[in-house]
Amino acid sequence: VRHLVIVLGDQLDEQSSALQGFDAQQDVVWMAEVAEESTHVWSAKQRIAVFLSAMRHFAQHLQAQGLPLVYTRLDDADNLGTLQLELGRAIKQLQPAALVMTAPGDWRVLQALRAAAAEHQLPLELRDDTHFFSTVREFAAHAQGRKQLRLEYWYRALRQQHGILMEGGEPVGGQWNFDVDNRESFGKAGPQNVPAPTRFAPDAITTDVLALVNRRFAGHPGTLHSFGWPVTREQALRALNAFITERLPLFGKYEDAMWQGEAWLYHSHLSCALNLKLLQAREVVQAAEDAHRVGLAPIASVEGFIRQILGWREYVRGIYWTQMPDYLERNALDAQADLPAWYWTGNTDMACLKDAIGQTLEHGYAHHIQRLMVTGLYALLLGVRPQAVHSWYLSVYVDAVEWVELPNTLGMGQFGDGGLMASKPYVASGKYIQRMGNHCKGCRYDPALSTGEAACPYTTLYWDFLMRHETLLKKNPRMAMQLKNLSRLDEAARAAIRGQAEAHRQGQTLK
Ligand code: FAD
Ligand code: SF4
Repeated sequence: VRHLVIVLGDQLDEQSSALQGFDAQQDVVWMAEVAEESTHVWSAKQRIAVFLSAMRHFAQHLQAQGLPLVYTRLDDADNLGTLQLELGRAIKQLQPAALVMTAPGDWRVLQALRAAAAEHQLPLELRDDTHFFSTVREFAAHAQGRKQLRLEYWYRALRQQHGILMEGGEPVGGQWNFDVDNRESFGKAGPQNVPAPTRFAPDAITTDVLALVNRRFAGHPGTLHSFGWPVTREQALRALNAFITERLPLFGKYEDAMWQGEAWLYHSHLSCALNLKLLQAREVVQAAEDAHRVGLAPIASVEGFIRQILGWREYVRGIYWTQMPDYLERNALDAQADLPAWYWTGNTDMACLKDAIGQTLEHGYAHHIQRLMVTGLYALLLGVRPQAVHSWYLSVYVDAVEWVELPNTLGMGQFGDGGLMASKPYVASGKYIQRMGNHCKGCRYDPALSTGEAACPYTTLYWDFLMRHETLLKKNPRMAMQLKNLSRLDEAARAAIRGQAEAHRQGQTLK
């Protein structure tokens, strides 16, 4: 064997760089399902199932194309349980001259594969991951010499470089950013006629996987009864097309809105397909740009959507790879609390959290504002250790892979990197959640109150957070408004809030 070509569970694309120049006469593809990938964090059943099913479908596709493939199944009796050990075994059996792969998304996985290559004294050829618009080298060059990293500059540079939403050197629509148009709520009437999400009934392969996951990972979080994620490229393309025609037009307007019992709204639900590489970021961005060109979707929606993929997705990847491995340990606010146990069950009387966690466990999905401003915000205000928060997010979402999850959680959500990723901590009181949806109406707490029996824990903890970090936050001009409001509280009010926050905290840790 000339090349043993490593294909990981999130590299499921026959166009990927690792497979370029593949010669079926002398090369072999290697794929392995190993328990470690589902147990290094307490991975939710939906997440395990989506990876295994997509891997098995991709393996079938490669075999149908006549590519020689060595594939270890999770339920193989002699499965060694880790990528490193399984790769070692394949190396011994096949005696390749070299290992080839597309650069993996995760730092941990890269170390494990490098260790296997070194142990067997084999060269490991890492090829650029062409699913992204940018390389990590380009990001590093952009970041060099900048005191602060900001999404906006990186995003604009990529728009110009790749000519996306550009017209004669100017941004289409006359401005780079339509964020202010993208913050509407559904008002009193709530969402009307939201198109049904594109879901896929399990085929034979998926049905097998669901049974396997239920058997093997019975104690893991979540349920599988609603499983409907795209697990093939063909399904992912159908989901993309449906999103572009049915949801994109209203995506921007309702990007930040929430509604009790409505998990899907106008979001694309494509993150998982993108992260597994069933879809190319370029084709998703292209499809959205085309929709604007033919008058199917307004610029505010299209720009907002493209900013998430061309902007944020590329930005967090750059942050991850330029900051690892130290990034994992960062804790700028010295937050030390444990994650409340009910994050794994949704068993809380806070209506917004119950809904967000409930649907997360049911579908492996929550949209961005639920992640940032409901589950993320509560953990931030409570002062949970960022590493515990990180483990939770990496476990529960079908789209969770560390390169994208970690900067979003530790950086954007928890301010654990002290402002590298986001210019200020995303903190708000319960009033923000009230404004963006209807959860507060059905809640035993009142977002306007910070003390007393009915005080909303978000509101109490918000003021408490500002007090606890006042000295640090004073250095940040973007926090001036919030600190000005804090300065209006007299000492008695402050003491009452502190007491209430402490009592709430005790209640959470006793559970
Ligand atoms: P849409 O709202 O339709 O957005 C379109 C696409 O843009 C997404 O599919 C995604 O690929 C991309 N995108 C949007 N926001 C971001 C972002 N902040 N960073 C990177 N890409 C983005 N995204 C993941 O893919 N995996 C994760 O593990 C993950 N963890 C997160 C943890 C926290 C605490 C937060 C605040 C965000 C996280 N995100 C993560 C980003 C974002 O919330 C999800 O990508 C999005 O909710 C997925 O749903 P969607 O496909 O319907 O997205
Ligand atoms: Fe959430 Fe507070 Fe509103 Fe209840 S009152 S739904 S806890 S924000």
